[in-house]
Amino acid sequence: MSELKQILTDSLGRKHSYLRISLTEKCNLRCTYCMPAEGVSLSPRSDIMNTDEIYEIAKVFVKHGVDKIRLTGGEPLIRKDFEEVIKQLSRLNVKLSITTNAILVDRYIEVFKKYGLNDINVSLDTLKEDKFKFITRRDQFKKAFENILLLIDEGFNVKVNIVLIKGFNDDEIKDFIELTKNLSVSIRFIEFMPFDGNAWDKEKLVTQNEILSQVKDIFGNSSIIKLENESNFIARRFKIKNYKGEFGIISTVSNPFCDSCNRIRLTANGKIKNCLFSSKEMNLLKLLRNGESLEDSILIAMHKKKAIRAGMSSFEKFSNPKKHSKNRSMITIGG
Ligand code: SAM
Ligand code: SF4
Repeated sequence: MSELKQILTDSLGRKHSYLRISLTEKCNLRCTYCMPAEGVSLSPRSDIMNTDEIYEIAKVFVKHGVDKIRLTGGEPLIRKDFEEVIKQLSRLNVKLSITTNAILVDRYIEVFKKYGLNDINVSLDTLKEDKFKFITRRDQFKKAFENILLLIDEGFNVKVNIVLIKGFNDDEIKDFIELTKNLSVSIRFIEFMPFDGNAWDKEKLVTQNEILSQVKDIFGNSSIIKLENESNFIARRFKIKNYKGEFGIISTVSNPFCDSCNRIRLTANGKIKNCLFSSKEMNLLKLLRNGESLEDSILIAMHKKKAIRAGMSSFEKFSNPKKHSKNRSMITIGG
């Protein structure tokens, strides 16, 4: 058994137990930081994993130690067979979760409950309707916000992801944290990350230190309570004294958390990515369709995993757009 699990341990001894599966490269929103203005070239439909293939590939990972699967995309809920996908995956001994833009969640409340999907991350970058329309290029703020409240009301464990962009939404940090006063929700500020075609610029970055200093100015140092990090954490967690919910900061750019990384990604066209920022991929779907074993390729992919951000350990390297030109746009990776 111990030998079985080793294919998910990389050369630095990091054990990978968390698989993120992208269900689609398509989306019903067009967030500027995720999808390039000119769109992305999509994989041919025949190259996208079908329900059975998702299950078969996931089963191999679970056999080797994956105990948590997150469904993402693109927007995972636009897949017509979403219920069938989750029904199949729920047969595996694994904790299921999802990241969604919330536009369609009201249609899936009962499905989530039926298959034990309780951890739901939603993306919402602003609390203002006009800004939502600008950043997502779609007029859907009310639907997204109402659905987030619905999820909280229905008792799901909800985390709200906010990509902070200087001059766009960094003036809303206070308003987002105020949501945690009466709502049992976790707000997570994410540092804007560079991907192919997303016009990233270091001037647009709002760092962990800047966020914390703003929070201290607004709420006062003595009101901020530092919470324990979760194991394999990505968000440093805090709460405001006497507030019901909490907030966190995901500082991939200014302060990466790669030493405790336990994440592997499977793209919608069946390729394993050992890191969000790596352009090196291996086609597991092709192997599955040829009736070949996936294990050797998974082992090779894991052993090629670099210590920090696909080898871009310094801020200088990481902030050079050329270093990201061979990687995919976020929408086709699966965040
Ligand atoms: N459509 C779903 C959603 O928006 O939640 C799931 C896919 S989306 C690619 C997953 C997460 O990646 C979202 O929380 C989104 O905010 C985040 N994301 C996308 N592009 C990003 C970027 N350039 N920097 C930081 N986070 C990003
Ligand atoms: Fe779609 Fe999510 Fe990307 Fe926005 S962040 S374009 S909702 S995949």
